[in-house]
Formats: sequence, C-alpha cells, structure tokens
Amino acid sequence: MTWHVLGGGSLGALWAARLGRAGLPVQLILRNPQRLAAYRAAGGLTLVEQDAAQTHPVPGQLATDSQPIERLLLACKAYDALAAISSIETRLRPGAQVLLLQNGLGSQEQVATRVPQARCIALSSTEGAFRQDDFRIVFAGQGQNWLGDAQAPPEWLKELALAGIPYQWTGQMPTRLWRKFALNCAINPLTVLHDCRNGALLEHLDEIQPLCAELVELLNHAGQADAAVALYEQVIQVLQATAANLSSMQQDVRAGRRTEIDYLLGYASTCAARLQVPAPRLQQLHLRLLEHLRARGLPCA
Ligand code: NAP
Repeated sequence: MTWHVLGGGSLGALWAARLGRAGLPVQLILRNPQRLAAYRAAGGLTLVEQDAAQTHPVPGQLATDSQPIERLLLACKAYDALAAISSIETRLRPGAQVLLLQNGLGSQEQVATRVPQARCIALSSTEGAFRQDDFRIVFAGQGQNWLGDAQAPPEWLKELALAGIPYQWTGQMPTRLWRKFALNCAINPLTVLHDCRNGALLEHLDEIQPLCAELVELLNHAGQADAAVALYEQVIQVLQATAANLSSMQQDVRAGRRTEIDYLLGYASTCAARLQVPAPRLQQLHLRLLEHLRARGLPCA
C-alpha cells in the first residue's frame, strides 16, 4: 500500500525520505505544477542528518493525479489543512487512513468533518526539522511521534518501525493534543511578545502563572481534566529543559512567516466563549499578539 505524503515541507519531507529509503512505496503530493517541476528539478528530497546530506528520489505528483489514496500523511500547516484535504478528497478510498500532524487544535476536527469516509488519526510529533532550502530538510532534533484513535492500532505501524520512525500508539490522543495545546498557549505567544528564547520566560512567571490558571479552567470545562493536571509545573519544566530554544511561533515571526495563532490562542478564545469560561488573560494575550503581528505586516489568522 502506497504512502501518500501531502506537503514537501519540513515534517512531510522527513517522513517521506525515511519511508522511501526503507523501500516502502511513497508518493509526495505537491501544491501545484510549478512546485512539482521545481521538485523534479531538485531530483528528490535531500535529508541532512548530522551534517551528512543524502538525496532520496521519492516520486512526486499533484492533487489532481488519479491514483486512489488509501493512506495519507497530511503534512501541511494547520491553516492549510482544510484546503489541502479538500484538494484530494475525491481520491480517498472508503476507509482510507489519514494521519494529521498539525499543531494546535481545530484543524483535526475541520479535516475529519470534511472527509467522513476516512479514518482520521491525530499525530503529535516532538521530532524537529527545518527547511534549509526547497526540498532540503535538516533533521534537527530526535523525538517521538504520538498517534492514535479509539480503534485498534493499524497493521502498518510496523512500517514506521521498518523506516526508523519512532512512534507510540495511544488511546489517549485527545489528552495529549490538549496538553500540548495548553503548553504552547502558555509559552509560544509570550516568547513572541518578549522577543526571547524559551528560558527567558522564567523571568515572567508573574504572567505565566495566572495564564496557566485560566488554561486549567478552560481544559476542565472542556472535559479535559487529565490534560490540565500540574500544567504550570510542566510549563516551568519545559522552559528549563528548552531554555536555549526559540519556540516555533517565535521562529515563524522572526522569519516573517504566517503563524498558527488561530489554532492556539484563536481556538482558546473561541472555546472559552462557547463554554462561557471567563478567560480575560488569554483574550488579552490573543489581542496583544494580533496587534504585534499586524504591526509587522504578518497575517493575523
Ligand atoms: P512546513 O515546513 O511549512 O511544510 C508545510 C508544507 O505543506 C509546505 O511544503 C507546503 O507547500 C505544503 N502545503 C501546504 N498546502 C498544500 C497543498 N494544498 N498541497 C500540497 N502541499 C501543501 O511545515 P512543517 O514545519 O512541516 O509543519 C507541519 C505541521 O507540523 C505544523 O502544524 C507544525 O506546527 C507541526 N510540527 C512541525 C515540527 C517541525 O519541526 N517542523 C515539529 C512538530 C510539529 P509549499 O512548500 O509549496 O509552501
């Protein structure tokens, strides 16, 4: 069975290259004919690991290709997920399996609603990769891929092991997604507003503590009490353990790229309003971040 990977960016390329070099059939779906032509001219995906670069000639195609899709890794940003799944939805076989690796919350639901014929499996990755150039990806950080749904683990997990892709199947994926969402809401926007690395936020615990208290309330009202346990303590641990890192949102802002704000603070604000949970600090943080992005000419969604 072929792995279709939609998106030749950081994580899409990391997955496609590893699956391809393990001899598994992979097709990379590119955005448009220009991107497909550029990809073919590049000769494949180049993966840089510990300073060694290797090119993997994974075949590329467009969303309009006619090949049916039975297994898809949706490897775009959260704000592109709905348009991306819509572009291939008629190719999905009934019962097709779709892995969603988008950060934040909201896009998973948008995609699952759009393709009810598919089994959508959420995935949360702590692996790190970035684009050095088009179709040239640096594998920057080892990590884990958590994935799962309420059904039995699928047969193809052993293909991940074959490809050297670390994974952990879990029936508690919503808890993981909500926990990561809460950590990202507490950390990422403040790193942007203070223009700092993660560790420097340890000097702003007076802002972080009440924010975490609001997030805990929100998670509890959303039926995600397990994801709320000792949130503030874990935020501090993350800030200490990743002190030298730039958060993903901070990297996006510094590079002048669109952020995934709608799937973090946007989702938090909407959720708080829907559940009628007071969240003045989250809302104020959202407004401050929107203002910050606007002032730099960056998209506010
Ligand atoms: P990325 O480097 O920006 O790659 C996204 C790719 O999706 C781009 O190559 C883009 O194409 C492609 N794309 C978007 N819409 C498309 C469409 N309709 N058809 C075909 N291709 C399409 O993003 P990323 O860093 O891999 O992140 C993906 C998700 O993983 C995000 O939610 C991110 O937060 C999460 N994540 C990333 C990392 C990491 O280390 N990178 C770690 C954990 C989680 P173009 O190249 O043509 O723009």
